Amino acid sequence: MKKNKKFDNISALNIVQGVQKPDIVNPYIDFSQLRQQPLQSVEDYMRHIRTGDRVGLSQAITLIESNLQEHSTLSQQLIEACIPFAGKSIRIGITGMPGAGKSTFIEIFGKYLTKMGRKLAVLAIDPSSGRSKGSILGDKTRMEELAADQNAFIRPSPSAGTLGGVARKTAETLIVCEAAGFDTIIIETVGVGQSETEVKNMVDFFLLLTLAGAGDELQGIKRGIMEMADAILINKADGDNIARAELAKTQINNALHLFPPLPSQWTPKTMTVSAQQNKGIQEVWLMIDDYVNFTKKSNYFAKNRIEQSKERFHQYIRDTLYEKILSAPDIQAKIHSLEKQIQQQTMSVYAAGREILEAWKNGVN
Ligand code: GDP
Repeated sequence: MKKNKKFDNISALNIVQGVQKPDIVNPYIDFSQLRQQPLQSVEDYMRHIRTGDRVGLSQAITLIESNLQEHSTLSQQLIEACIPFAGKSIRIGITGMPGAGKSTFIEIFGKYLTKMGRKLAVLAIDPSSGRSKGSILGDKTRMEELAADQNAFIRPSPSAGTLGGVARKTAETLIVCEAAGFDTIIIETVGVGQSETEVKNMVDFFLLLTLAGAGDELQGIKRGIMEMADAILINKADGDNIARAELAKTQINNALHLFPPLPSQWTPKTMTVSAQQNKGIQEVWLMIDDYVNFTKKSNYFAKNRIEQSKERFHQYIRDTLYEKILSAPDIQAKIHSLEKQIQQQTMSVYAAGREILEAWKNGVN
């Protein structure tokens, strides 16, 4: 073929020596380490969970967190299978405003526990995570050392769904972690007042982490949260903050006396700690241990768990019934129209509620 001089300098029409293609597959991958298939059956999941396989445990939790209809039966069966192996841990709730030092505290406290030979799972409830991309545990740098600890397992909360849904999934995750052999469970929540009651209802011991401020000890923390706490830790009691922390301790202690006694008959404790300087950490554990002994002796420990189960049972009925009603055909449209009437004050809340229930009972058309 005659060469066309006109195109000599146009590179796209010249054939260039090719570059050697790399292997499609990384030759260093150890295929025996890769899970070939996702777990399929309850037996599969249980085998992995009971042998302490963390990848299997993570998959089980992902299944529980799934909102897909096709996962729900398997997920329910899995929880039922875990229940006989669950219930043997100490469940600790930790709350506190952002910046109080929760993750710093949990990391140092967690490392103390694992060093003692305990197996710790840290779960989180974060009502804001759906909106703000996770203000709790979402940040990968939190609890880095604890995350690398073979005896610890850290799991952020599912990032979508209503608080009730997230809380339910956290309670279910707790059961799976217990079945996997974790003997200490920490449930962390941001102390913004929404999720504390949910957490309180899942744990044996409820701990509030707070800071000494310029006289605002009682304002920064919602009174309701203080009333629920079995212990209040004043963190960052280090450097020139020690005196203020001690003063805060006295003030909080005085305030606690005014609250009604806890149903456990336990006197809530106030302590100063420094998570950063690893001060007071052992004392916190000894106090929790004291509490467990005290409440086991009085049988409150077991009684409380039964009460919690009953409450969760009611919560479950409330949540699922509400979801069912909302998902009934045409009910959304009816709700919208009733909302308008409430807004225009042409109908009472109660009459509107009754109408929705009637419509649901009769099957809306
Ligand atoms: P969280 O939002 O409650 O999880 O709080 P973080 O654990 O992220 O801590 C917030 C900030 O307080 C970080 O800069 C920590 O380094 C710091 N901090 C945490 N604990 C202590 C402590 O005991 N003393 C001091 N001085 N700083 C601390």
